[in-house]
Amino acid sequence: MQCRCGQQVYFNNDSCVHCGRLLAFDPHELAMQSEEAPGSGLPTCANRRTAVRCNWTPVPANEHGYCLSCAMSKTIPTLSKPKNHDRWRKLEAAKRRLILDLLLLGLPVDESRLQFHFKEDRRTNPDVSDYHVTTGHSSGAITINAAEADEVFREEMRQAMNEPWRTLLGHMRHESGHYYFTVLVTDENLAEVRGLFGDESQDYDAALRRHYENGPRADWSSTYISAYASSHPAEDWAECWAHYLHIRAVLQVAVDAGLLPDGNNWYERFIELVLSLNEIMRSLGLPDAYPFVLTEPVVRKIEMVHRVIAERAV
Ligand SMILES: [Zn+2]
Ligand SMILES: [Zn+2]
Ligand SMILES: [Zn+2]
Repeated sequence: MQCRCGQQVYFNNDSCVHCGRLLAFDPHELAMQSEEAPGSGLPTCANRRTAVRCNWTPVPANEHGYCLSCAMSKTIPTLSKPKNHDRWRKLEAAKRRLILDLLLLGLPVDESRLQFHFKEDRRTNPDVSDYHVTTGHSSGAITINAAEADEVFREEMRQAMNEPWRTLLGHMRHESGHYYFTVLVTDENLAEVRGLFGDESQDYDAALRRHYENGPRADWSSTYISAYASSHPAEDWAECWAHYLHIRAVLQVAVDAGLLPDGNNWYERFIELVLSLNEIMRSLGLPDAYPFVLTEPVVRKIEMVHRVIAERAV
């Protein structure tokens, strides 16, 4: 993406480092808008002026002047607590990345059906009514515990859950997988999806209880992308969906940056790139950027996610 002055700009930028023009990402055009002349102004989301510092263009019909992404937030953490400003900004930034993924894939993004609730619970705020807010999805409503935006809280959870990774964007991509299952998996492809992932209608609560009480099955890594994916077919789908979104996002950035030619063979291109990326991270003394192994059964499941999306993409 480029500013009007020719400077390369990035998805998170809100002004051009070269000419100072205001920038705003237009999710409908999937392009960055820049002011006609520096200081001439640009329509921007109402949350540009709040803690969110949103850099998207507003939906013309939105009565509050919000962009597509901000309009989908139905619950935000209480702003009387100073800490929540920073949390809210991080949550919205991750959500805009997710919405970008969905739009780039040509998926229907319906703000009346897909909604977000960023909630606190009593573990981090004694003034709220909820004792325990769990990140999850129910009928298009995605709930994220706002404390997940705190690095320390999230790292403690990551270690307690024995996960290689835990990010806000990962949560959002995972939960969106549960929602899009209800949108994209129909009578036409259900049998094929179940053939690979198993029957998602089997008892969810019992499966999760088993997973947390007994730990994951010993051989999970040969057929699942994560230990959690082995807990239930619906979680396997959501995990593969999240990884498909991770992979497509990484490839998109690499193509835009000229690091990789465009192409269809996502698996080969991603593996080549990610091995180098992990090595770059190690050279900096940092953990692997992508600490996962894509075994053949996992690739087949991610392929299925790819096909289901391609069949319904607009
Ligand atoms: Zn510029
Ligand atoms: Zn916005
Ligand atoms: Zn899930």
